[in-house]
Amino acid sequence: MSVATPDIQQVQQIVREVLQRHLQPSGRQPAANGIPVMRSAASEPASAPAPVASGRNPLVVNISARHVHLTQEHVEILFGPGAQLTPEKDLYQDGYFAAKETVAVVGPRRRMLPNVRVLGPCRSDSQVELAFTDGISLGIDLPVRISGDVAGTPGCLLMGSHGVVELKQGVIRAMRHVHMGPDDLRHYGVQDGDMINLRVESPFCTTVLEDLAVRAGKDIKLEVHLDTDEGNAVNLDKASQVELVRAEPCKCRH
Ligand SMILES: [Zn+2]
Repeated sequence: MSVATPDIQQVQQIVREVLQRHLQPSGRQPAANGIPVMRSAASEPASAPAPVASGRNPLVVNISARHVHLTQEHVEILFGPGAQLTPEKDLYQDGYFAAKETVAVVGPRRRMLPNVRVLGPCRSDSQVELAFTDGISLGIDLPVRISGDVAGTPGCLLMGSHGVVELKQGVIRAMRHVHMGPDDLRHYGVQDGDMINLRVESPFCTTVLEDLAVRAGKDIKLEVHLDTDEGNAVNLDKASQVELVRAEPCKCRH
């Protein structure tokens, strides 16, 4: 008995066709493009009731897909002398954007994540933010860190269209967090660095995520950032309600 075995070129061709069919832009960017604001339940009332907090400002919960922040120096090494990031899509927070530029993130044993989106504007340190699932496929044991806190974290290789950068450190899983302006801090009775809980109501997946770090900023809109693992686990796409809940200390704690 013989089993038909397609050769590798046939398989590649089939995969390409399937990917092309599924990755056509259709109003919102697919996950494979690595654009961080993939799903904002609150901004898509057509598919689900807009989940809003009881406070004055609408609570937007966004999934931050894997992405990279770069220094200007690294932009020029990766994309050529004088290169600047090209804004492709504005993020929810004013002044921030997903760039046209992508890099490949290469981990130990040469495992690689291709087409990881670069976010702008440039920062003073380059940093790679991945989900745990990405870490597993790359072979990197990701530490959970607040963005920007990269001391002692694993490194990786970044490959751009022009060159390669070796990061000595900066590969993290960003700690789940909520951005808040002064009004929001007052409303929820929290301050920068506090922890708060997020309750997500979704079909058969209602979940309370604890330990969201509060990140305060002056001209910042109220926005939660989860990663793709977290967003998928709570079925954020189908969420009908999201709310921030103050973390009450357990009564038995002393
Ligand atoms: Zn954020």
